[in-house]
Amino acid sequence: MSFTPETRRRRTFAIISHPDAGKTTLTEKLLLFSGAIHIAGAVKGRKASRHATSDWMEIEKQRGISVASSVMQMLYREHVVNLLDTPGHKDFSEDTYRVLTAVDSALMVIDAANGVEAQTKRLIEVCRQRDTPIITFINKMDREGRDPIELLDEVEAELGMPCVPMTWPVGQGKGFGGIVNLRTQSMRLFDAGEDKRSDEYEVVSLDQRDKLAERFGHDWELAEQNMELMAEAAPAFDLEQFLAAKQTPVFFGSAVNNFGVQEVLDALVDLAPAPRPRFSTEKDGSHKEIAPDMANFSGVVFKVQANMDPSHRDRIAFVRVCSGKYTPGMKLKVQRSAKELRPTSVVTFLSQRREAVDEAFAGDIIGFTTHGGVQLGDTITDGISLQYTGLPFFAPELFQTVELKNPMKSKQLQAGLLQLGEEGAIQVFRPEVGGAMLLGAVGQLQFEVVQHRLMAEYGVDIRLMPCRFTGARWITADTPEAMKKFTDENASKLALDAADTLAYMMTSAYDLRLTAERHPQVHFHPLREHA
Ligand code: GDP
Repeated sequence: MSFTPETRRRRTFAIISHPDAGKTTLTEKLLLFSGAIHIAGAVKGRKASRHATSDWMEIEKQRGISVASSVMQMLYREHVVNLLDTPGHKDFSEDTYRVLTAVDSALMVIDAANGVEAQTKRLIEVCRQRDTPIITFINKMDREGRDPIELLDEVEAELGMPCVPMTWPVGQGKGFGGIVNLRTQSMRLFDAGEDKRSDEYEVVSLDQRDKLAERFGHDWELAEQNMELMAEAAPAFDLEQFLAAKQTPVFFGSAVNNFGVQEVLDALVDLAPAPRPRFSTEKDGSHKEIAPDMANFSGVVFKVQANMDPSHRDRIAFVRVCSGKYTPGMKLKVQRSAKELRPTSVVTFLSQRREAVDEAFAGDIIGFTTHGGVQLGDTITDGISLQYTGLPFFAPELFQTVELKNPMKSKQLQAGLLQLGEEGAIQVFRPEVGGAMLLGAVGQLQFEVVQHRLMAEYGVDIRLMPCRFTGARWITADTPEAMKKFTDENASKLALDAADTLAYMMTSAYDLRLTAERHPQVHFHPLREHA
């Protein structure tokens, strides 16, 4: 396939890790190497809490977790690198999942002392489902950690694909001497406590082995043995295998010391894929491949976020450009509603400064500021008829009903829930036979965020009450008759979600099984793909 130069020079990746592995630190260091063009969501603001963002971000600060995900664009070696941060907390894994649909590769950060942790495992699963190529960075080598070979074994087992070390550490913790670049056969020497640019660290060629052996003694010998062992045990790096998510290149380093970081950035540029083709769902249900170089502009909304500035009521739809070129003033159409989209602004990031987009190409992330009319999963084009596949909603596992403390605020509640539902902050279900609205979540914290935001942004004070439902399943049926029979019999357990898709609210796994047995022509889906 041929690529235009603009497409070919783009790299769009997500950075994934368990909280505290060093994602924020690594991101900051990556930016040092580049002319950072746009920084969204404020990497620094998040930890330093210098900036007053919206109220609901308080929750994030209090808990020291990332609720929102942010987007950064930077220039490095003639490449445009789009970096997408992902929320680390498991209660926001839905949000992370959607971010991962917007990227072409992932950078996985692992803490050398902790190995592959719980949240990383979940993220890996998502990448595996989509065959997203993964680059692995083993961080905090300046601290006492686990044996590198043991770590590689663990990554290999969890990823289900072989690891190919691209660098190798000499020593660890207090005795961390540096890393060997296996390709260039040279060692970059580490200075504890220093934060320099990569090129300021001393580099020694492995030709001067004796010098290294003398300087690092036992650590050098052990590293040498391990490198020999890995040369035999690990496969050689194979670009095709990596791109097919069948092996992961592994880098060692220390993010906080900016050590071993540039190697990762180089790998992203040299190895990670340029924007790839994506699939659209045709009217007959079949899938069609859309090349990033197609002339028509198209993109998909993978995230909707309320304005960080509480004095604005607008929202930003994050769009991954999938094909063509965006230019200001272009006519845009939302495929679901067939309506024209007239954004008040189109930006490359959201933070204190908003910058207008001059042009954007496949792989870029742009933000459309709107007052509504855009939902998660929407496809936006220059007019061409096209619907991208695959932005899934998971059936919630936790439900609560909403009770208003002040009944006069019912309108505001409706508006608030509609918007929060469209953002994917929570799933809102309206029971068919009336009654209190149901909120569905995958993680408990989502309820707290919604309660907090309803108060802060809409002035609505709610009480959340437990309810009898334990799950939801989206419904389809083989025939209209089967559907009618089913809905007639189960009226009290039916609800419509934000996209007006019918769902069966189950009270237990047993309940679901029994109902499914009674209605063999009805299908119960735990996932809803936007269509
Ligand atoms: P995140 O939650 O994954 O974004 O992690 P952070 O980037 O906030 O890092 C968590 C903690 O680990 C912070 O205190 C960092 O200073 C520290 N840290 C990050 N990288 C390194 C490293 O290479 N070595 C050491 N010793 N600490 C690190």
